[in-house]
Amino acid sequence: MKLPSLTGLTPRRKTILQELNLDKVEALLEYVPFRYVDRRELKSARQARSTEEPVTLVGRATDIRLQGRGKRARLEVLFTDGDDPFKAVWFRGVHYIRKQIQQGALYTVHGTPRLFGNTLSIAHPELRKIERLDESQKSLGVRPVYPGNQKLAKAGVQSRLLQSWAGELLDKSPPREYLPESIRTELNLPTLSEAYRMAHLPDSPDEPLQGIHRLKFNELLFFEMGMAEIRYREYEKQPGERFERQEFTDRFLQHHLPFELTDGQVSALRDIRRDVSSGRQMHRLLQGDVGSGKTVVAAATLLMGIENGFQGALLAPTELLAEQHAATLTSLFEGLDIDIRLLTGSRNRAARREILASLSAGQCNLIVGTHALIQDEVHFQQLGIAVIDEQHRFGVEQRAALNKKGRSPHLLVMSATPIPRSLALSIYSDLDVSRIQGLPPGRKPVRTAVRGDNRRSDVETFLEKNMDERGQIYVVYPLIEESEAMDLKDATRGYESLKRRFPDSRIGLLHGRMDTDEKEAIMNSFRSGELDILVSTTVIEVGVDVPNANVMIIEQAERFGLSQLHQLRGRVGRGDRQSYCILMPGSELTESGRFRLSKMVQTQDGFQIAEADLQLRGPGDFLGTRQSGLPEFRHADIVEDRSLLEKARTIALSLMQQGPESLANQYPLLYERFQSWFSERFDWFRQG
Ligand code: ADP
Ligand code: MG
Repeated sequence: MKLPSLTGLTPRRKTILQELNLDKVEALLEYVPFRYVDRRELKSARQARSTEEPVTLVGRATDIRLQGRGKRARLEVLFTDGDDPFKAVWFRGVHYIRKQIQQGALYTVHGTPRLFGNTLSIAHPELRKIERLDESQKSLGVRPVYPGNQKLAKAGVQSRLLQSWAGELLDKSPPREYLPESIRTELNLPTLSEAYRMAHLPDSPDEPLQGIHRLKFNELLFFEMGMAEIRYREYEKQPGERFERQEFTDRFLQHHLPFELTDGQVSALRDIRRDVSSGRQMHRLLQGDVGSGKTVVAAATLLMGIENGFQGALLAPTELLAEQHAATLTSLFEGLDIDIRLLTGSRNRAARREILASLSAGQCNLIVGTHALIQDEVHFQQLGIAVIDEQHRFGVEQRAALNKKGRSPHLLVMSATPIPRSLALSIYSDLDVSRIQGLPPGRKPVRTAVRGDNRRSDVETFLEKNMDERGQIYVVYPLIEESEAMDLKDATRGYESLKRRFPDSRIGLLHGRMDTDEKEAIMNSFRSGELDILVSTTVIEVGVDVPNANVMIIEQAERFGLSQLHQLRGRVGRGDRQSYCILMPGSELTESGRFRLSKMVQTQDGFQIAEADLQLRGPGDFLGTRQSGLPEFRHADIVEDRSLLEKARTIALSLMQQGPESLANQYPLLYERFQSWFSERFDWFRQG
């Protein structure tokens, strides 16, 4: 709805609101304060001496002094709160203010106190005249502070004006309630109008919380309704092919593996087997910490499809990982006569055409690849099973795209990120979950330490010894997209200096700008033990598996997030050797940097690390809002508001269960609002 005319809404301001997408009733009401100053709590002048936060004092004006003139003019008013004196000072508008102030009258004085010598002074306070002390409460109230915005500020749109606009809007065009009464009663939520009033014009400091609680619920409900819509419409488990034959897979598991499966792997495979032979499509999430051995489970799952005459696909987030998976599967499946292909973005045209042809002709049994796999021109003859590795790097979106490549192929997604239950329920709510607990036997915990630059020569001595014992070493440098060139310089410099320090060692350099073949060549020589040290940018972060590598040096470690550090450390500790992870900060540590590094030293448990990371960063960042397909929330935080999220989920499910027509009939307004919310945030879904 368009904005009605509002006091102080000049054409210039209107244009700015337009630019900020705030020129609709709803949008302006949604632009809520981000904090509130409670001015009702009175402090004594003595208390105000020990704070630098804004305070409210009550005092009688005892003396008024106007000093200087013109631009130098300055107004000082002395007050006493009964026990102690304080001073208010003005440098602007002094004559105007002088006229307002009455000697001997009682005022509330709100502002930021400062001490000059022994004198407590507040510059440019807000003054209100009161008759009696108990009046102070009412006159002050709770003052909202709106999110700062330069454009608004420039046009003189301050918190006070935004607040008065909100008030006018609520009078002139109050928003229509769309939540069914029964839901509001059940959750004890205010009406929409009331909620906005509480947020913009609170009478007490608790009201904003109540109001915003309702606004959060709106978002969470729409979000959960959206997830349900995707699920019911597009994505509900369909009847699936039965993979009946399993002997091949059994033989593979018994005779082709160089190790015994762990209990976790066995039970995950049992779940998977049940799913793929059930006659319904499998939608399963396989969670297992870094190094727990998810790849073999994927291999066996793919084999189940292949032996039943279907094609399989394995989707990986990076080229490096796709290449590694292709290599691993090729060697695991040696002698089984399976046609395995690798499809990545950097394959040349001819190779690509050849691969696509073999895929649509059904000659290729198993394709491993990156995002390139889900592009439009990729056609399968008969895709039966798809595996997505490192699911947290992909979203619902990619999952849906892959799903469309076959007639309801079985789907296994794998993730090392242990997502808290409430979140998992929403994001992966259509997935059944198997967990691989623990790591394969014989793994020694990785010893982790933080070493400053002043210990570099000790670290080098340690590396030398490790190389004498034929252990291999990763040295990782951070990579930040905006300054790729710079980071490359860091890695290159590190590489050069290691070569000078260890002239007899074999050292390789790996980074994102190399083409596929170069990367593959370097990775292969590290894997086969031809290199002692691999200096790399974070391209090796996920999935890379070289069991003989036992030392991980992380340079500028403070620049990494916790989950990333955990993933990196997961590259070592994969074999029988004692492994080490040395975190080398590149600069003075911030509090958060210190916390992250000490957490790494403290624990190797992926779950604990994920929880800490989630707390540090919030869910959007943690999951990568874009990749995870999560919409941006204005009010809600799906971690903090978990319990409200769960309620929203229950309600959304019961609303959506009746199907869209009936919902639209019963609650037309709710349905309409949901539709517009949904199409703004899940547009990718409609395009697909
Ligand atoms: P992730 O779960 O991180 O993907 P991987 O599948 O890469 O882990 O496995 C990590 C390492 O453990 C690999 O070298 C793999 O060969 C090895 N591995 C997997 N399962 C077992 C097992 N049951 N016993 C011993 N080693 C195993
Ligand atoms: Mg892996």
